[in-house]
Amino acid sequence: MDDRNLVGEFLREKIAGYEFRPRVASYGKVVSFSDGVTFVEGLRDVGCDEIIDFGENRYGLAFELSEEGVGVVMLTPGSLIPGTLALGTGHIADIGVGDAMIGRVIDPLGRPLDGKPLRLTKYRHDESPAPKITDRSPVNRAFPTGILAIDSMIPIGKGQRELIVGDRRTGKTSIALSAIKNQKGRGVICVYCTIGQRAAETVRIVEELRESDALDYTFVVAATASDPAALQYLAPFAATGAAEYFMYSGNDVMIVYDDLSKHAAAYRTISLLLKRPSGREAYPGDIFYLHSRLLERSAQLSRNNGGGSLTAFPIIETQAEDVSAYIPTNVISITDGQIYVSTSLFLGGQRPAINVGLSVSRTGGAAQQKQLKKLSASLRIELSRMREQEKFARYGGNTGGDMAEGKLLNSLLIQPKDTIYSAAEEAAILAAYRCGAFSSVPLNRIGDAITKMLADLHENDRALLENIEASGNITDTNLDALIGAVKRHLASYC
Ligand code: ATP
Ligand code: MG
Repeated sequence: MDDRNLVGEFLREKIAGYEFRPRVASYGKVVSFSDGVTFVEGLRDVGCDEIIDFGENRYGLAFELSEEGVGVVMLTPGSLIPGTLALGTGHIADIGVGDAMIGRVIDPLGRPLDGKPLRLTKYRHDESPAPKITDRSPVNRAFPTGILAIDSMIPIGKGQRELIVGDRRTGKTSIALSAIKNQKGRGVICVYCTIGQRAAETVRIVEELRESDALDYTFVVAATASDPAALQYLAPFAATGAAEYFMYSGNDVMIVYDDLSKHAAAYRTISLLLKRPSGREAYPGDIFYLHSRLLERSAQLSRNNGGGSLTAFPIIETQAEDVSAYIPTNVISITDGQIYVSTSLFLGGQRPAINVGLSVSRTGGAAQQKQLKKLSASLRIELSRMREQEKFARYGGNTGGDMAEGKLLNSLLIQPKDTIYSAAEEAAILAAYRCGAFSSVPLNRIGDAITKMLADLHENDRALLENIEASGNITDTNLDALIGAVKRHLASYC
């Protein structure tokens, strides 16, 4: 067959297979556009949260439906001129999901940001109802973060929502990243959702995760400060949609929202541009509902529903340590506890700068390792006694041994950014503290003493540590063996 016949054959085949399928779409015309918000006339059959197509790769989200028209917030940069055609896609905002996401950096619309192609065939809506009460089971499995202060005094359980709150540059992100790094080899899938941060900071975080091999089980959903407000608004919902896919497949999932203050600000921007009535601090009235419907989606599912879990770490940035501002109080009341980080502790060298007195975990206690719970039982009291003594000392009072004990404990809780402890190591440190192993170590050498002690244990009692890690439980016998081991090496730490 010559070339001409080949082409003819090809065209005949195409014509025979052609079927007239008109595309039925709701359409309208742009009336006005300013600051990423456009009003569109027409679009009769459009739904809330539907993606609107303006052609030339410009998309928006139908946000405000009224008799006069539709308020659409733009998901892509650039402007629109009045008269531009707007087509309803009939498609509610969703995100592609699947195992291929792991290790990748994507935007809230599921587009890869790391320059490599991403093919996903399943989708989940960004907004979906939280699991029903009957689909859940109580939070009773420990979620170890690898940070001693948290795992001992503010224990977290799988399916819990624990807020990290504090001023800027106090180590909030670092706490969340340590918790992610600590999930290595534990079968937990981690999602890091960045909202309104600088792109350079997001790149730094992705690199930090890559260097510690955490990207093997983590993916990042990013909407940076330069992205449209609507995209920033969508980011945590899209990230949660993707996280839910893994949770409903029976996995344990952890999600970090960094941070919800910027998310609230993005929502406020959109709402004000849409001329919605504003309330306290100019936030719209439904800002509480916004965050509660997001965080309610974290859960420990019952065994009938696969037994997966979604543990959430929302981050909130405060101004001048004011936790009574609108957004911090809202999110504090929604979550199951908060880790409060303070500037004064951070500047004083206490890192992570967790103020244990103001931090709480409302549900994790039931999930905490029994032995770890026993070892940490009186730590909070010892620390608060020290704080009382500190106040007393300021007026020239005579302070007793409590102060020294408290200071020693504070030094034990100092943990460099890149160090995470296993449950066995945490138990060993606390056991050593209980045995008085560190009493004669100068406070500025405590860190070295801990390093030395753990190195000793790894060298001489490796089997014991591995046994505790593998069983995921510290039994009474294991604890006795651990205390014995610590006591054996006791003299060498001083
Ligand atoms: P931002 O408000 O900018 O988001 P943040 O509260 O998230 O800040 P980080 O970015 O986590 O704070 O940390 C601020 C700085 O403190 C970083 O330079 C980090 O390296 C340092 N840092 C955080 N935690 C520790 C730690 N445990 N030990 C030593 N340095 C730390
Ligand atoms: Mg941060």
